[in-house]
Amino acid sequence: MKYSSLVEVYEQLESTTKRLEKTHILSEFLKKASDLEHVLLLVQGKVFANWDERELGMAGRLIVKAISRSSGASSDKVEVIWKKTGDIGEAAEQLIGKKTQSTLFSQSLTAKKVFENLQKLAELEGAGTVDRKVQLVAELLTSANSKEAKYIVRTVIGELRVGLGEGTVRDAIVWAFFGKETGASYDEEKNDLVFTDSSREKYNTVVELVQESFDVMNDFGEIAILAKEKGKSGLETVSLSPGKPIKVMLYPKAKDFEDAFNRLGKPAAFEYKYDGFRLQIHRKKDKIALFTRSLDEVTKQFPEVVKFVEEYVKGDNFILDAEAVGFNPETKKYLPFQKVSQRIKRKYDIESMARQFPVEVNVFDVIEYGGESLLKEPFKERRKLLDKIIKDYPWKLKRADQIVTESAKKAESFFRESLASGNEGLMGKNLDGIYKPGSRVGYGVKIKEAMETLDVVIVGAEWGEGKRGDWLASFVVAVRDKDDFLEVGKVGTGIKEKDEEGVSFNQLTKMLKPFITKDSGKEVRVKPKIVIEVEYEEIQESPKYGSGFALRFPRFIRLREDRRAKDASTINDVNSLYDSQRGRKK
Ligand code: AMP
Repeated sequence: MKYSSLVEVYEQLESTTKRLEKTHILSEFLKKASDLEHVLLLVQGKVFANWDERELGMAGRLIVKAISRSSGASSDKVEVIWKKTGDIGEAAEQLIGKKTQSTLFSQSLTAKKVFENLQKLAELEGAGTVDRKVQLVAELLTSANSKEAKYIVRTVIGELRVGLGEGTVRDAIVWAFFGKETGASYDEEKNDLVFTDSSREKYNTVVELVQESFDVMNDFGEIAILAKEKGKSGLETVSLSPGKPIKVMLYPKAKDFEDAFNRLGKPAAFEYKYDGFRLQIHRKKDKIALFTRSLDEVTKQFPEVVKFVEEYVKGDNFILDAEAVGFNPETKKYLPFQKVSQRIKRKYDIESMARQFPVEVNVFDVIEYGGESLLKEPFKERRKLLDKIIKDYPWKLKRADQIVTESAKKAESFFRESLASGNEGLMGKNLDGIYKPGSRVGYGVKIKEAMETLDVVIVGAEWGEGKRGDWLASFVVAVRDKDDFLEVGKVGTGIKEKDEEGVSFNQLTKMLKPFITKDSGKEVRVKPKIVIEVEYEEIQESPKYGSGFALRFPRFIRLREDRRAKDASTINDVNSLYDSQRGRKK
């Protein structure tokens, strides 16, 4: 297929904000499209399926280079248009357009070629990677016309801007391949769905079927192909299969126990929140496979876990969800995640690593058992099954510690107990909740202890990209060490885009400008004058910053105009916060 056919669809999608109209445009395209696998990713501006963690890794700076290389325009010129329009795709469109007029005989670009070149971006490694990446994109842009260039660049930067959500893609698949069976049709004039027997039921059933297939497969391309070739029966056969990882269920944060009960209902289950890493455990006959949260296989790295599963879990066909947490084999105390994390990527000395950094597997869910999917079973039934099939062996493999209660007081004391045992807090779970892969639907919540905030000084910053091009958008922050300042991280979240919403990038930029001591175009250094209060999830040891620590997920809370740099938090504060955080883990 020509890439220009896709570009036509992008343009049509971009021209309307109406969801049904977008669904119609896409479904009409899907009916005709060949190569559905690639097309469904590209229409979403992707070249990897959802479960695939590979990334293109092209920063705006490199795309500017690629546009400059293929158009002959200077990088400065590209940047100027980008800043002015806030869309680097637009810069490509304007500059590449000029050139193609003189190269009339350029070959027409196929969707496959675009797809392949972009996938290659993620695979490059080692010396010369940067230049080869620029070259791959430049190669595409050289054979593109102006509109094609616009969407190639937007795909590379991960901002297609055609307003296509997953729900719309799902519905477009329904319209394209199950038109008649749904009893629904689209009335273009009214921009509305019309139901033949005035009921949405049939339609909703098909939508649900496609959604559920997506929850398990995580790939609209595969689903569209199944729907087109095998219809409903094809999708009905999409099932969990031990050996094939599915996306794990995620949990939003609850503010406190009142909030937790409001979301979960009463009574609710509470479990220790172990500070390890997620492990999806699959068994099919003799084959046991382990996957991380990002669905990377780690079976080889954890041979002892494979043995635990063989010995302590009944059955030979299942998918379990668990948290593996490291502990000190001598003191039998849990260790922070960082210590065991090195086992995940380890390729050699696996046995000695396993002795040095053993893990305990805490199983908290079962998703499939004996060939039956349990996705729709209520949590309390899944837990009952865990009670039956798991023999608890502390420090090897066991069920997650759990209580079921209606009392905030009891939950609170379980929370204290969890922290005292070296965990991060609690997970709360709705007893009737189903297992919804990949989403933060709220069948469970996490409850962690709020961290003390820090007052940090801004010592540097980075200019933003695109529509943030005139602002400083990421701020290097530091704590005080006598008269010196030691960096502890970079903050970009919590700051507003619009002045009327609170402290904005614009406001901080204006405040910092007079203090800039060095400006390299991308990065600036500033005199330590402005103090801000930040919260964070955790303090980690890190060689990346001068302080030896890094704030994990720092977030701007407010300006501390009442404070000067000399009043900022000190490296001693960070040290003792780090110790108290570790103390909880001891
Ligand atoms: P967070 O990573 O802070 O978003 O917290 C969610 C993570 O906590 C999950 O993805 C699991 O890896 C982990 N976790 C630890 N204990 C449990 C538990 N009992 N139930 C569910 N998740 C848990």
